Parts: sequence; structure tokens; C-alpha cells
Amino acid sequence: MITGSCLCGGVRYEYDGCIEEISLCHCSQCRKAQGSAYVAVSPVDSARLRMVRGQELLREYRAVPHKARVFCSNCGSPIYSARDELPGVRRLRLGTVETAFECANAYHIHVASKAAWERIGDDLPQYPGAAPGKS
Ligand SMILES: [Zn+2]
Ligand SMILES: [Zn+2]
Repeated sequence: MITGSCLCGGVRYEYDGCIEEISLCHCSQCRKAQGSAYVAVSPVDSARLRMVRGQELLREYRAVPHKARVFCSNCGSPIYSARDELPGVRRLRLGTVETAFECANAYHIHVASKAAWERIGDDLPQYPGAAPGKS
């Protein structure tokens, strides 16, 4: 079981599954949405992600019409994103996870649009756009 929460603690969730993939996205939308060099997300099964509390605090913002970025309206923490065409998948913002876990399957995407000041200092795979086989 993976648990997590937003910065203010108003939103709390449980994920009845494992984190099996870590996507580090450097695109300009993710950078702005997080206020950081990149976002760390994992695709998780919507049916197994449960809001324990704070469902009413969640708001969404759509930078593009088909993708909702869901965040806590009290503190601003991004919680997950969801694409309309993929209702079974949520992309959980891993900075909000409290459970210690390890996952070797990590990779960088959209490195072609990373910030000029950022230096990627690990040897994980890097893809200029989306990961192969994904959009
Ligand atoms: Zn919050
Ligand atoms: Zn992105």
C-alpha cells in the first residue's frame, strides 16, 4: 500500500498497488505546473487510487483540453493528472508519496525541452520527446 498527501494534509490518498515505473518529465507544461525542473510521475490504476480525505479540495486545471491536472485547492500541491481518453490511468505526482519505495524503472522524457540551466546528473535513459511507444 502506497500512501500520500498534499502539503497542507487536507488531501490524503491510498494506492493499493506498487509503483512500477517512474517518468521524469521535463516538458515546459510540467515544469510550470510543478515550479521545478521536472515532474516525477508514475502511471497508476485509477480503480486502486482512493482519496481517503479531501476529495472536495481537489480542483483541476487543463493546459490542454484532454488532460486534467488535479491539485489541492488549499495548498496547491499537484496530486495527479488524468487524460480523458485513458480513464483507467492516473499519473500520480510522486513528490506527494509518503511511503518509502524503490523503483529501478525510471527514465527522463521531453529532455529536448528541459530548462537551459538544468543538468541531468544520472545515467537513466533520456528521450527527447515521449517515451517510446507512449504519447
Ligand atoms: Zn493541500
Ligand atoms: Zn510533461
